Amino acid sequence: MFFIVCLAVLMAIAPVRAQEHPDLAVIHQIKQEAFENSKVMDNMFYLTDVNGPRLTNSPAFFEAADWVVKRLGEWGIPAHLEKWGPFGRGWAYTHFSASLLAPQYAPLIGYPQAWTAGTNGAVSGEPMIIERLENDADLDKYRGKFKGRIVLVGEPRELKLSLDPMGRRYTDAELADLTVAPDPGANFGFRRPGAPARPPGGGEAARQFQIKLRKYMADEQPLVVVQAGPGRSEDGTVFGGAAGSRELKDPIAPPTVVLTPENYNRIFRLIESKTTVKLEFDIQTRFYDDRTDSVNVIGEIEGGRKKDEIVMIGAHLDSWQGGTGATDNAAGSSVMLEVMRILKTLNLKMDRTVRLALWSGEEEGLLGSRAYVKEHFGDPDTMKLGPEHAKLAGYFNVDNGTGRIRGVYLQGNEMMRPIFESWFAPFKDLGAGTSSIRNTGGTDHLSFDGVGLPGFQFIQDPIEYNTLTHHSNMDVYDHVERGDLMQISAIVASFVYNTANRDEMLPRKPLPKPRPRTPENGAAAPASGN
Ligand SMILES: [Zn+2]
Repeated sequence: MFFIVCLAVLMAIAPVRAQEHPDLAVIHQIKQEAFENSKVMDNMFYLTDVNGPRLTNSPAFFEAADWVVKRLGEWGIPAHLEKWGPFGRGWAYTHFSASLLAPQYAPLIGYPQAWTAGTNGAVSGEPMIIERLENDADLDKYRGKFKGRIVLVGEPRELKLSLDPMGRRYTDAELADLTVAPDPGANFGFRRPGAPARPPGGGEAARQFQIKLRKYMADEQPLVVVQAGPGRSEDGTVFGGAAGSRELKDPIAPPTVVLTPENYNRIFRLIESKTTVKLEFDIQTRFYDDRTDSVNVIGEIEGGRKKDEIVMIGAHLDSWQGGTGATDNAAGSSVMLEVMRILKTLNLKMDRTVRLALWSGEEEGLLGSRAYVKEHFGDPDTMKLGPEHAKLAGYFNVDNGTGRIRGVYLQGNEMMRPIFESWFAPFKDLGAGTSSIRNTGGTDHLSFDGVGLPGFQFIQDPIEYNTLTHHSNMDVYDHVERGDLMQISAIVASFVYNTANRDEMLPRKPLPKPRPRTPENGAAAPASGN
């Protein structure tokens, strides 16, 4: 009797276990190719040092997209550009210099904010300070006051001594914390039973003010607007983004620059002490209005007996303009290219088709991946699904910087836990294996998760992402860890191989309800990218 029960139990669990067991001979081959013949830093070098920043719809973005198609072609992987849109106008800057001329000469560290105008040659003048423009009263107060002036907006930023290291890896304790499920009560807040979770309409007023502010700044015509780098900007590092609009209908924002706080604070102190200050700027920017649609780059390795079923991998190719978008996200793009090279070079037998997507418009709100998902799989607004929805086995995304993979976010999908744990087993000695039931936000996997498809983003070591590189002028090649990118390449390649040959497609959560888009929420997915 005991024997029969054991046999029955074994028969019940054996098929599942056998199915998830990774093919160690193949994993060995993948590791060898990823660690001994890596091309990941060649990809990095080209995308960052040679190509430069890749702001969506800038000429350099399109050049990078063309290069990816060419590179995949050289490896025998068919690839093409897939149009989506409209995105809006392109923008790039071709010259920037900023100087303190008086009381003493000093060069200033900074760069232009995206989608803002240039100066007409070198311009100089005595700067003035204004407060941040946050409401209608502020606009009235300064109306007609700063036309033709260089304007410093906002207070100086006190830089507090930090004794913490810039770069770090997750500790065992932090990884253990990630395995703890979030408190189920946290989303309910402290409020009357039955009260709405959030008062409606809060964001709309702010949105309307931003529209008004854009028009006001275009009308008031300051010579140059100067901002102190926000957040963690210091030590010559400047975090930036956009201060103008990419929409053709909107007025062009005045020249706007962001400076390292050390420079900004010096100018501010001098003005406050009534010392005569003179600044000079020479900024050349260009708008590209002729091409308002954008493109994602798509490449494919055709599968075998289930080739109409797809395993997708992706990363965003676009970046911000201050550095060269190395950790955000040439790193993820280079890794995904390397994954395709590894799978193609080893000529592994795969049942399902493997499709690569390098997205654009991620930094403006996951726009490229959302457009692709809507076109191919389903619309989160209506939950009307296309035929391809039933054919996607799974999607894997890399977009959290250069740090090696330490595990994966399950996106609340408990069914994935035993599968991923088994797939991570051959990578335990490379530091990977944590499964977190939590969701993680801000990356393109959300576009897939939003229509009920199994889309995942890995847990990656933070390294210097949050302290130094993410959206800064120091997001450059030298802050990428090659060993980490090689580890990520091997893990993603093996996960793709496992997904391509698994008996079933990856298990799915129940379909989400439709979430109609409103001007206020802006989108079904979060409004800004990572
Ligand atoms: Zn980003």
